[in-house]
Amino acid sequence: MIWNKTIECMRREEMQKLQSVRLKRVVEHAYHNTSFYRGRMQEMGLTPDDIESIDDITKLPFTVKQDLRDNYPFGLMAVPMSEIVRLHASSGTTGKPIVVGYTRKDLSIWSEAVARCLYAAGVTRNDAVQVSYGYGLFTGGLGLHGGVENIGGTVIPMSSGNTQKQIQLMHDFGAKALACTPSYALFLGETIKESGIPRKEFQLKIGLFGAEPWTENMRREIEESLGIKAYDIYGLTEIIGPGVGCECKCQHGTHLWEDHFLPEIIDPNTLQPVKPGEPGELVFTTLTKEGMPMIRYRTRDLTSLHYEKCDCGRTAVRMDRILGRSDDMLIIRGVNVFPSQVESVILETPEFEPHYLIIVDRVNNTDTFQIQVEVRPEYYTDEMNKILALKKKITAQIQSVIGIQPEIKIVEPHSIERSMGKAKHVIDNRKLV
Ligand code: ADP
Ligand code: ZN
Repeated sequence: MIWNKTIECMRREEMQKLQSVRLKRVVEHAYHNTSFYRGRMQEMGLTPDDIESIDDITKLPFTVKQDLRDNYPFGLMAVPMSEIVRLHASSGTTGKPIVVGYTRKDLSIWSEAVARCLYAAGVTRNDAVQVSYGYGLFTGGLGLHGGVENIGGTVIPMSSGNTQKQIQLMHDFGAKALACTPSYALFLGETIKESGIPRKEFQLKIGLFGAEPWTENMRREIEESLGIKAYDIYGLTEIIGPGVGCECKCQHGTHLWEDHFLPEIIDPNTLQPVKPGEPGELVFTTLTKEGMPMIRYRTRDLTSLHYEKCDCGRTAVRMDRILGRSDDMLIIRGVNVFPSQVESVILETPEFEPHYLIIVDRVNNTDTFQIQVEVRPEYYTDEMNKILALKKKITAQIQSVIGIQPEIKIVEPHSIERSMGKAKHVIDNRKLV
């Protein structure tokens, strides 16, 4: 089942031709309609005529989040504000929010991109989809909403929060699919279990989870807890919102809709492209966006891309799981640590809940590295020797993956705060000094 077969299964050469035509067009649009891109290109001695095909993309300047902040709120709009029919803003996980604007056509491209995602995960017009991403300035809620309407499914526009009601309506309305952050999916699973409503009374089969990094182990945990198939959906406000790409039923990489969003992977230090399959920073150029085109936007997300055709029949490039944002990387006692590495180990340990909190500080010029983990109720005990053995085990496992020794703090069931949106896994007190 494929939604836009012509595009999703297009031969690579044809896709590159299409991308080249569109790249040329978007560069012209950005150059002629924003002083920002025109200025950047002029500084480099470039005109739109220098861009003939996607091979010329490396000539173009990069765009970064700071550029959006410097041009706050509407400086990067490439159409008159009368053409802008919707504004969104990023949730500001890292600093001040940034604003984006959509034309009517941009909204229709977005809802098509999300429709492809829903189909890839197996959602059809016969299905009710509970959208439990936040509605509002955050792109999650309204983004998924538009996609469900586009394929003719039934939207349940729950937004996030009000967890008891989420469970009740999911049950009563027979939601077949759920869209939210992976951390909220976990919380919903936990709440269903506690509600006492038998799982077989739910129709839920499919989850579309994204907006934050999550691991394979987390996927298994969610699939088990909700009795569903869990698919990764990826996106970011600057590019369009959720739906830049999604996994198909093969769960073998996140297909990116590269006829609209042209991806590159660069080495974040040298800024040079890496070979296909090699890891680096993901960069996107929007090929069709009118309102706020983005040229070579550096996402800070670290991943790799694979161009071999997928077993599902799609040729659309596949992206590996995001390891994390380069901004999420902690440097503890000189060692690079991604929260996703810690998550992976904790979720492999059956005694622990999939909830954790990393607390970093600096005491006497040395970094402290504490990880709070929550023991599952069935393993909860006041026998000191058992707790110490458990502590020793997880400490050794984390040390073997990361290379430095954490201080493990085992906490009682339910004591780590549950998240309804993007989870906060790290408190770095060093930044306050
Ligand atoms: P903010 O930047 O304020 O968090 P966004 O909602 O635009 O606002 O966040 C987009 C970012 O969320 C992406 O750049 C990426 O880091 C993360 N993200 C989104 N989807 C996924 C996903 N499926 N897997 C991992 N990270 C994701
Ligand atoms: Zn596929």
